[in-house]
Amino acid sequence: MDFELSEEQQAFRKALQTFVREQITPVAREWEQAGRYPTEIVEAMKTLGLFGLTIPEAYGGLEVDMVSYAIAFEEIAKGWMGIAGILGSHSLSCWMLGRYGTEAQRRRWLPELAAGTRRTGIALTEPGAGSDLQAVQTRAVRQGDHYVLRGTKIWITNARHANPLPVLCVTDPAAQPRHRGLSVLMVEASTPGFVVGRDMGKLGYRGPESCEVVFDDAHVPAEDLLGGEEGQGFKQVVSALEVGRLNVAGRSVGIAQAALEAALRYSRERKAFGQPIGEFQAVQLKLADLATQIQAARLLTWWAASRKDAGHRTDAETAMAKLFASEVAIRASLDSMRIHGGYGYSTEFEIERLYRDAPLMAIGEGTNDIMRVLIARALARELPG
Ligand SMILES: Cc1cc2nc3c(=O)[nH]c(=O)nc-3n(C[C@H](O)[C@H](O)[C@H](O)COP(=O)(O)OP(=O)(O)OC[C@H]3O[C@@H](n4cnc5c(N)ncnc54)[C@H](O)[C@@H]3O)c2cc1C
Repeated sequence: MDFELSEEQQAFRKALQTFVREQITPVAREWEQAGRYPTEIVEAMKTLGLFGLTIPEAYGGLEVDMVSYAIAFEEIAKGWMGIAGILGSHSLSCWMLGRYGTEAQRRRWLPELAAGTRRTGIALTEPGAGSDLQAVQTRAVRQGDHYVLRGTKIWITNARHANPLPVLCVTDPAAQPRHRGLSVLMVEASTPGFVVGRDMGKLGYRGPESCEVVFDDAHVPAEDLLGGEEGQGFKQVVSALEVGRLNVAGRSVGIAQAALEAALRYSRERKAFGQPIGEFQAVQLKLADLATQIQAARLLTWWAASRKDAGHRTDAETAMAKLFASEVAIRASLDSMRIHGGYGYSTEFEIERLYRDAPLMAIGEGTNDIMRVLIARALARELPG
Protein backbone atom coordinates (compact mmCIF):
# COMPACT_ATOMS: atom_id res chain seq x y z
CA MET A 1 0.00 0.00 0.00
CA ASP A 2 1.49 3.31 -1.13
CA PHE A 3 -0.13 6.55 -0.02
CA GLU A 4 2.26 8.76 -2.00
CA LEU A 5 1.28 10.27 -5.32
CA SER A 6 3.55 9.41 -8.23
CA GLU A 7 5.89 12.14 -9.55
CA GLU A 8 3.60 12.55 -12.54
CA GLN A 9 0.55 12.99 -10.31
CA GLN A 10 2.38 15.51 -8.13
CA ALA A 11 3.47 17.51 -11.18
CA PHE A 12 -0.11 17.45 -12.52
CA ARG A 13 -1.38 18.69 -9.18
CA LYS A 14 1.16 21.52 -9.08
CA ALA A 15 0.25 22.64 -12.60
CA LEU A 16 -3.43 22.74 -11.60
CA GLN A 17 -2.65 24.69 -8.43
CA THR A 18 -0.80 27.31 -10.48
CA PHE A 19 -3.68 27.51 -12.97
CA VAL A 20 -6.24 27.94 -10.19
CA ARG A 21 -4.14 30.54 -8.32
CA GLU A 22 -3.53 32.61 -11.44
CA GLN A 23 -6.76 32.27 -13.41
CA ILE A 24 -9.61 31.29 -11.09
CA THR A 25 -9.04 32.62 -7.57
CA PRO A 26 -8.72 36.30 -8.58
CA VAL A 27 -12.15 36.38 -10.29
CA ALA A 28 -14.17 33.62 -8.58
CA ARG A 29 -16.07 35.71 -6.03
CA GLU A 30 -17.04 38.54 -8.37
CA TRP A 31 -17.97 36.39 -11.37
CA GLU A 32 -19.88 33.80 -9.34
CA GLN A 33 -21.91 36.44 -7.55
CA ALA A 34 -22.70 38.10 -10.88
CA GLY A 35 -23.65 34.70 -12.40
CA ARG A 36 -21.18 35.51 -15.21
CA TYR A 37 -20.20 32.69 -17.55
CA PRO A 38 -16.43 32.13 -17.14
CA THR A 39 -15.56 32.17 -20.86
CA GLU A 40 -11.92 33.15 -20.30
CA ILE A 41 -11.37 30.31 -17.83
CA VAL A 42 -12.94 27.83 -20.25
CA GLU A 43 -10.51 29.02 -22.94
CA ALA A 44 -7.57 28.51 -20.56
CA MET A 45 -8.84 25.00 -19.71
CA LYS A 46 -8.85 24.19 -23.42
CA THR A 47 -5.19 25.19 -23.65
CA LEU A 48 -4.35 22.93 -20.72
CA GLY A 49 -6.14 20.02 -22.38
CA LEU A 50 -8.52 19.63 -19.43
CA PHE A 51 -11.52 18.84 -21.64
CA GLY A 52 -9.67 15.67 -22.64
CA LEU A 53 -9.12 14.33 -19.09
CA THR A 54 -11.06 11.11 -19.73
CA ILE A 55 -10.44 10.81 -23.49
CA PRO A 56 -7.94 8.23 -24.77
CA GLU A 57 -4.66 9.64 -26.09
CA ALA A 58 -5.41 8.00 -29.44
CA TYR A 59 -8.24 10.56 -29.87
CA GLY A 60 -6.22 13.53 -28.62
CA GLY A 61 -7.11 13.32 -24.91
CA LEU A 62 -4.98 13.40 -21.76
CA GLU A 63 -6.35 9.99 -20.60
CA VAL A 64 -5.31 10.63 -17.00
CA ASP A 65 -5.63 7.93 -14.35
CA MET A 66 -8.67 8.24 -12.08
CA VAL A 67 -6.63 9.45 -9.08
CA SER A 68 -5.33 12.35 -11.18
CA TYR A 69 -8.89 12.89 -12.36
CA ALA A 70 -10.09 13.29 -8.74
CA ILE A 71 -7.13 15.57 -8.01
CA ALA A 72 -8.05 17.83 -10.95
CA PHE A 73 -11.57 18.26 -9.53
CA GLU A 74 -10.29 18.87 -6.01
CA GLU A 75 -7.88 21.59 -7.08
CA ILE A 76 -10.32 23.36 -9.40
CA ALA A 77 -13.16 23.23 -6.87
CA LYS A 78 -10.85 24.76 -4.26
CA GLY A 79 -10.87 27.83 -6.47
CA TRP A 80 -14.50 27.71 -7.67
CA MET A 81 -16.69 24.60 -7.73
CA GLY A 82 -18.72 25.88 -10.70
CA ILE A 83 -15.67 25.65 -12.94
CA ALA A 84 -15.23 22.02 -11.94
CA GLY A 85 -18.93 21.60 -12.81
CA ILE A 86 -18.25 22.67 -16.40
CA LEU A 87 -15.75 19.82 -16.66
CA GLY A 88 -17.85 17.34 -14.65
CA SER A 89 -20.62 16.10 -16.95
CA HIS A 90 -18.40 16.81 -19.97
CA SER A 91 -15.77 14.40 -18.76
CA LEU A 92 -18.17 11.65 -17.68
CA SER A 93 -19.90 11.72 -21.06
CA CYS A 94 -16.54 11.70 -22.87
CA TRP A 95 -15.60 8.65 -20.81
CA MET A 96 -18.93 7.02 -21.78
CA LEU A 97 -18.41 7.77 -25.48
CA GLY A 98 -14.85 6.42 -25.35
CA ARG A 99 -16.01 3.28 -23.56
CA TYR A 100 -19.26 2.50 -25.38
CA GLY A 101 -19.26 4.49 -28.63
CA THR A 102 -18.74 2.80 -31.98
CA GLU A 103 -15.39 3.48 -33.63
CA ALA A 104 -17.10 5.85 -36.08
CA GLN A 105 -18.74 7.77 -33.18
CA ARG A 106 -15.44 8.01 -31.31
CA ARG A 107 -13.59 9.30 -34.37
CA ARG A 108 -16.33 11.75 -35.16
CA TRP A 109 -16.63 13.44 -31.75
CA LEU A 110 -13.78 12.65 -29.36
CA PRO A 111 -10.93 14.69 -30.93
CA GLU A 112 -12.95 17.93 -30.84
CA LEU A 113 -14.32 17.13 -27.37
CA ALA A 114 -10.73 16.65 -26.17
CA ALA A 115 -9.73 20.03 -27.59
CA GLY A 116 -12.80 21.66 -26.05
CA THR A 117 -13.89 23.00 -29.44
CA ARG A 118 -16.90 20.77 -28.87
CA ARG A 119 -18.26 20.28 -25.37
CA THR A 120 -20.85 18.04 -23.84
CA GLY A 121 -23.00 17.24 -20.80
CA ILE A 122 -25.53 14.55 -19.95
CA ALA A 123 -29.33 14.60 -20.06
CA LEU A 124 -30.83 12.06 -17.67
CA THR A 125 -33.12 13.87 -15.22
CA GLU A 126 -36.72 14.74 -16.09
CA PRO A 127 -39.41 16.68 -14.25
CA GLY A 128 -40.87 13.34 -13.07
CA ALA A 129 -37.74 11.16 -12.79
CA GLY A 130 -34.38 11.71 -11.12
CA SER A 131 -33.25 8.97 -8.74
CA ASP A 132 -35.51 6.47 -10.53
CA LEU A 133 -33.81 6.72 -13.93
CA GLN A 134 -35.76 3.77 -15.31
CA ALA A 135 -38.88 5.93 -15.07
CA VAL A 136 -37.73 8.43 -17.73
CA GLN A 137 -40.45 9.24 -20.25
CA THR A 138 -38.47 10.85 -23.08
CA ARG A 139 -39.39 8.64 -26.01
CA ALA A 140 -37.44 7.82 -29.16
CA VAL A 141 -39.42 6.18 -31.97
CA ARG A 142 -37.48 4.68 -34.87
CA GLN A 143 -38.69 5.81 -38.29
CA GLY A 144 -36.50 4.55 -41.11
CA ASP A 145 -32.97 5.91 -40.75
CA HIS A 146 -33.70 8.20 -37.79
CA TYR A 147 -35.38 8.43 -34.38
CA VAL A 148 -38.08 10.94 -33.50
CA LEU A 149 -37.30 12.15 -29.99
CA ARG A 150 -39.92 13.70 -27.72
CA GLY A 151 -39.72 14.69 -24.06
CA THR A 152 -38.33 17.13 -21.49
CA LYS A 153 -35.18 17.02 -19.37
CA ILE A 154 -34.37 19.36 -16.50
CA TRP A 155 -31.29 20.52 -14.61
CA ILE A 156 -29.04 19.86 -17.59
CA THR A 157 -25.62 21.35 -16.87
CA ASN A 158 -23.75 22.67 -19.93
CA ALA A 159 -26.98 22.47 -21.99
CA ARG A 160 -26.18 25.61 -23.97
CA HIS A 161 -22.69 24.38 -24.79
CA ALA A 162 -23.28 20.68 -25.35
CA ASN A 163 -22.80 19.37 -28.89
CA PRO A 164 -23.59 16.51 -28.95
CA LEU A 165 -25.73 16.03 -25.83
CA PRO A 166 -26.20 12.37 -24.75
CA VAL A 167 -29.90 11.86 -23.93
CA LEU A 168 -31.28 8.89 -22.00
CA CYS A 169 -34.55 7.87 -23.63
CA VAL A 170 -37.02 5.01 -24.00
CA THR A 171 -36.67 3.02 -27.21
CA ASP A 172 -38.81 0.08 -26.07
CA PRO A 173 -41.62 0.97 -23.64
CA ALA A 174 -42.70 -2.69 -23.33
CA ALA A 175 -39.29 -3.97 -22.20
CA GLN A 176 -39.07 -5.88 -18.91
CA PRO A 177 -37.13 -5.11 -16.84
CA ARG A 178 -37.59 -1.45 -17.80
CA HIS A 179 -33.88 -0.71 -18.15
CA ARG A 180 -33.68 -2.97 -21.21
CA GLY A 181 -35.87 -0.47 -23.03
CA LEU A 182 -33.51 2.48 -22.48
CA SER A 183 -30.94 3.86 -24.91
CA VAL A 184 -28.68 6.91 -25.25
CA LEU A 185 -28.99 9.14 -28.31
CA MET A 186 -26.20 11.61 -29.06
CA VAL A 187 -28.14 14.72 -30.08
CA GLU A 188 -26.33 17.40 -32.06
CA ALA A 189 -27.08 21.02 -31.08
CA SER A 190 -28.24 21.92 -34.59
CA THR A 191 -31.01 19.27 -34.57
CA PRO A 192 -34.38 20.92 -35.35
CA GLY A 193 -36.68 20.38 -32.36
CA PHE A 194 -33.83 20.38 -29.80
CA VAL A 195 -34.62 23.45 -27.68
CA VAL A 196 -32.68 24.65 -24.66
CA GLY A 197 -35.32 26.31 -22.47
CA ARG A 198 -35.19 28.21 -19.23
CA ASP A 199 -32.23 28.41 -16.87
CA MET A 200 -33.08 26.87 -13.49
CA GLY A 201 -32.64 29.38 -10.63
CA LYS A 202 -30.03 28.05 -8.17
CA LEU A 203 -28.81 28.54 -4.62
CA GLY A 204 -25.19 28.18 -5.73
CA TYR A 205 -23.28 26.59 -8.60
CA ARG A 206 -23.57 29.85 -10.47
CA GLY A 207 -21.58 30.39 -13.63
CA PRO A 208 -22.34 27.14 -15.47
CA GLU A 209 -25.89 26.90 -16.75
CA SER A 210 -28.40 24.24 -15.64
CA CYS A 211 -31.34 24.24 -18.03
CA GLU A 212 -34.57 22.70 -19.08
CA VAL A 213 -34.17 20.98 -22.44
CA VAL A 214 -37.09 20.10 -24.70
CA PHE A 215 -37.11 17.60 -27.56
CA ASP A 216 -40.05 18.47 -29.75
CA ASP A 217 -40.08 15.67 -32.32
CA ALA A 218 -36.35 16.11 -32.84
CA HIS A 219 -35.09 13.95 -35.73
CA VAL A 220 -31.90 12.17 -34.65
CA PRO A 221 -30.01 10.00 -37.17
CA ALA A 222 -30.13 6.31 -36.19
CA GLU A 223 -26.32 6.19 -36.49
CA ASP A 224 -26.16 8.51 -33.44
CA LEU A 225 -27.50 5.79 -31.10
CA LEU A 226 -24.61 5.36 -28.64
CA GLY A 227 -22.87 2.04 -29.34
CA GLY A 228 -25.26 1.27 -32.21
CA GLU A 229 -27.45 -1.12 -30.20
CA GLU A 230 -30.76 -0.33 -28.49
CA GLY A 231 -31.32 -1.24 -24.84
CA GLN A 232 -27.78 -0.47 -23.65
CA GLY A 233 -28.48 3.05 -22.34
CA PHE A 234 -29.02 2.25 -18.67
CA LYS A 235 -25.80 0.26 -18.40
CA GLN A 236 -23.89 2.99 -20.24
CA VAL A 237 -25.06 5.85 -18.02
CA VAL A 238 -24.82 3.92 -14.75
CA SER A 239 -21.17 3.10 -15.34
CA ALA A 240 -20.45 6.68 -16.49
CA LEU A 241 -22.04 7.90 -13.25
CA GLU A 242 -19.32 6.06 -11.32
CA VAL A 243 -16.79 8.33 -13.02
CA GLY A 244 -19.09 11.24 -12.22
CA ARG A 245 -19.15 10.27 -8.54
CA LEU A 246 -15.38 10.40 -8.43
CA ASN A 247 -15.45 13.93 -9.76
CA VAL A 248 -18.14 14.95 -7.26
CA ALA A 249 -16.09 13.39 -4.45
CA GLY A 250 -13.02 15.32 -5.69
CA ARG A 251 -15.03 18.54 -5.88
CA SER A 252 -16.31 17.94 -2.34
CA VAL A 253 -12.77 17.55 -0.99
CA GLY A 254 -11.83 20.78 -2.78
CA ILE A 255 -14.73 22.72 -1.23
CA ALA A 256 -13.93 21.30 2.22
CA GLN A 257 -10.21 22.07 1.92
CA ALA A 258 -10.95 25.64 0.81
CA ALA A 259 -13.29 26.05 3.80
CA LEU A 260 -10.63 24.74 6.19
CA GLU A 261 -7.91 27.00 4.78
CA ALA A 262 -10.23 30.03 5.00
CA ALA A 263 -10.99 29.15 8.64
CA LEU A 264 -7.28 28.71 9.44
CA ARG A 265 -6.38 32.09 7.91
CA TYR A 266 -9.26 33.84 9.64
CA SER A 267 -8.59 32.29 13.04
CA ARG A 268 -5.05 33.66 12.92
CA GLU A 269 -6.15 37.18 11.99
CA ARG A 270 -9.30 37.67 14.03
CA LYS A 271 -8.87 38.68 17.66
CA ALA A 272 -11.39 38.37 20.49
CA PHE A 273 -10.84 38.82 24.21
CA GLY A 274 -7.29 39.99 23.45
CA GLN A 275 -6.07 36.98 21.47
CA PRO A 276 -6.41 35.40 18.02
CA ILE A 277 -9.55 33.24 18.03
CA GLY A 278 -7.38 30.32 16.84
CA GLU A 279 -5.95 30.19 20.36
CA PHE A 280 -9.34 29.25 21.81
CA GLN A 281 -9.53 25.51 22.23
CA ALA A 282 -13.12 25.43 20.96
CA VAL A 283 -11.90 26.76 17.60
CA GLN A 284 -8.88 24.43 17.54
CA LEU A 285 -11.12 21.40 18.10
CA LYS A 286 -13.26 22.32 15.10
CA LEU A 287 -10.18 22.81 12.92
CA ALA A 288 -8.67 19.51 14.02
CA ASP A 289 -11.91 17.60 13.35
CA LEU A 290 -12.25 19.17 9.92
CA ALA A 291 -8.64 18.45 8.92
CA THR A 292 -9.08 14.81 9.97
CA GLN A 293 -12.36 14.37 8.10
CA ILE A 294 -11.05 16.05 4.97
CA GLN A 295 -8.01 13.79 4.83
CA ALA A 296 -10.27 10.76 5.33
CA ALA A 297 -12.51 11.99 2.47
CA ARG A 298 -9.49 12.53 0.22
CA LEU A 299 -8.05 9.09 0.91
CA LEU A 300 -11.42 7.40 0.41
CA THR A 301 -11.73 9.20 -2.94
CA TRP A 302 -8.23 8.21 -4.06
CA TRP A 303 -8.87 4.63 -2.94
CA ALA A 304 -12.10 4.41 -4.96
CA ALA A 305 -10.31 6.03 -7.92
CA SER A 306 -7.39 3.61 -7.79
CA ARG A 307 -9.81 0.65 -7.59
CA LYS A 308 -11.43 1.96 -10.77
CA ASP A 309 -7.98 2.28 -12.39
CA ALA A 310 -7.28 -1.33 -11.41
CA GLY A 311 -10.41 -2.42 -13.30
CA HIS A 312 -12.55 -3.44 -10.31
CA ARG A 313 -16.31 -3.01 -10.09
CA THR A 314 -16.59 0.25 -8.12
CA ASP A 315 -20.28 1.01 -7.65
CA ALA A 316 -19.99 0.79 -3.84
CA GLU A 317 -16.52 2.40 -3.63
CA THR A 318 -17.43 5.45 -5.69
CA ALA A 319 -20.72 5.75 -3.78
CA MET A 320 -18.84 5.66 -0.44
CA ALA A 321 -16.39 8.31 -1.59
CA LYS A 322 -19.11 10.61 -2.91
CA LEU A 323 -21.34 10.11 0.15
CA PHE A 324 -18.61 10.70 2.72
CA ALA A 325 -16.79 13.53 0.94
CA SER A 326 -19.97 15.49 0.21
CA GLU A 327 -21.11 15.31 3.82
CA VAL A 328 -17.64 16.51 4.88
CA ALA A 329 -17.94 19.42 2.42
CA ILE A 330 -21.27 20.47 3.90
CA ARG A 331 -19.95 20.25 7.44
CA ALA A 332 -16.69 22.02 6.62
CA SER A 333 -18.43 24.94 4.93
CA LEU A 334 -20.80 25.37 7.88
CA ASP A 335 -18.10 25.05 10.55
CA SER A 336 -15.83 27.43 8.68
CA MET A 337 -18.73 29.88 8.47
CA ARG A 338 -19.22 29.60 12.25
CA ILE A 339 -15.51 30.31 12.78
CA HIS A 340 -15.84 33.41 10.59
CA GLY A 341 -18.63 34.74 12.85
CA GLY A 342 -20.69 37.48 11.17
CA TYR A 343 -18.18 37.85 8.34
CA GLY A 344 -18.92 34.27 7.33
CA TYR A 345 -22.36 35.49 6.25
CA SER A 346 -20.89 38.35 4.24
CA THR A 347 -20.66 38.30 0.45
CA GLU A 348 -17.21 39.90 0.84
CA PHE A 349 -15.71 36.59 1.99
CA GLU A 350 -15.37 33.32 0.07
CA ILE A 351 -17.00 31.18 2.71
CA GLU A 352 -20.61 32.01 1.83
CA ARG A 353 -20.04 30.65 -1.70
CA LEU A 354 -18.58 27.41 -0.35
CA TYR A 355 -21.63 27.12 1.92
CA ARG A 356 -23.99 27.57 -1.06
CA ASP A 357 -22.03 25.19 -3.33
CA ALA A 358 -21.54 22.32 -0.87
CA PRO A 359 -25.13 20.93 -0.70
CA LEU A 360 -25.18 20.20 -4.44
CA MET A 361 -22.46 17.62 -3.79
CA ALA A 362 -25.03 15.61 -1.80
CA ILE A 363 -27.50 15.71 -4.74
CA GLY A 364 -25.60 15.55 -8.04
CA GLU A 365 -24.71 12.19 -9.65
CA GLY A 366 -27.26 10.57 -7.33
CA THR A 367 -28.45 11.75 -3.92
CA ASN A 368 -26.63 10.56 -0.83
CA ASP A 369 -29.53 8.29 0.10
CA ILE A 370 -29.19 6.64 -3.30
CA MET A 371 -25.46 6.22 -2.49
CA ARG A 372 -26.50 4.45 0.72
CA VAL A 373 -28.83 2.19 -1.28
CA LEU A 374 -25.94 1.25 -3.62
CA ILE A 375 -23.60 0.54 -0.71
CA ALA A 376 -26.22 -1.56 1.08
CA ARG A 377 -26.83 -3.57 -2.12
CA ALA A 378 -23.10 -4.27 -2.39
CA LEU A 379 -23.02 -5.39 1.24
CA ALA A 380 -25.88 -7.82 0.58
CA ARG A 381 -24.10 -9.08 -2.55
CA GLU A 382 -20.89 -9.74 -0.71
CA LEU A 383 -22.41 -11.42 2.35
CA PRO A 384 -21.11 -14.99 2.42
CA GLY A 385 -23.73 -17.75 2.23
C1 LIG B 1 -27.57 22.19 -9.97
C2 LIG B 1 -27.95 20.84 -10.50
C3 LIG B 1 -27.32 20.36 -11.64
C4 LIG B 1 -27.72 19.13 -12.17
N1 LIG B 1 -27.15 18.70 -13.35
C5 LIG B 1 -27.69 17.60 -13.97
C6 LIG B 1 -27.25 17.22 -15.29
O1 LIG B 1 -26.34 17.84 -15.87
N2 LIG B 1 -27.84 16.16 -15.88
C7 LIG B 1 -28.83 15.44 -15.28
O2 LIG B 1 -29.33 14.50 -15.88
N3 LIG B 1 -29.25 15.77 -14.02
C8 LIG B 1 -28.71 16.83 -13.37
N4 LIG B 1 -29.15 17.18 -12.11
C9 LIG B 1 -30.23 16.41 -11.50
C10 LIG B 1 -29.77 15.54 -10.35
O3 LIG B 1 -28.97 14.49 -10.81
C11 LIG B 1 -31.05 15.05 -9.63
O4 LIG B 1 -31.63 16.19 -9.02
C12 LIG B 1 -30.76 13.98 -8.60
O5 LIG B 1 -30.34 12.80 -9.22
C13 LIG B 1 -32.00 13.68 -7.75
O6 LIG B 1 -33.13 13.48 -8.52
P1 LIG B 1 -34.48 14.30 -8.20
O7 LIG B 1 -34.14 15.74 -8.06
O8 LIG B 1 -35.49 13.91 -9.19
O9 LIG B 1 -34.91 13.80 -6.75
P2 LIG B 1 -35.88 12.55 -6.42
O10 LIG B 1 -35.42 11.35 -7.14
O11 LIG B 1 -37.28 12.97 -6.59
O12 LIG B 1 -35.58 12.35 -4.86
C14 LIG B 1 -36.23 13.13 -3.86
C15 LIG B 1 -35.82 12.55 -2.49
O13 LIG B 1 -36.25 11.18 -2.40
C16 LIG B 1 -35.13 10.36 -2.05
N5 LIG B 1 -35.25 9.05 -2.69
C17 LIG B 1 -35.66 8.77 -3.97
N6 LIG B 1 -35.60 7.44 -4.19
C18 LIG B 1 -35.13 6.87 -3.06
C19 LIG B 1 -34.83 5.53 -2.66
N7 LIG B 1 -34.97 4.49 -3.49
N8 LIG B 1 -34.38 5.32 -1.41
C20 LIG B 1 -34.20 6.35 -0.55
N9 LIG B 1 -34.47 7.66 -0.87
C21 LIG B 1 -34.92 7.90 -2.10
C22 LIG B 1 -33.91 11.11 -2.58
O14 LIG B 1 -32.72 10.70 -1.90
C23 LIG B 1 -34.29 12.54 -2.29
O15 LIG B 1 -34.00 12.82 -0.94
C24 LIG B 1 -28.72 18.38 -11.53
C25 LIG B 1 -29.31 18.85 -10.35
C26 LIG B 1 -28.94 20.07 -9.84
C27 LIG B 1 -29.62 20.58 -8.61
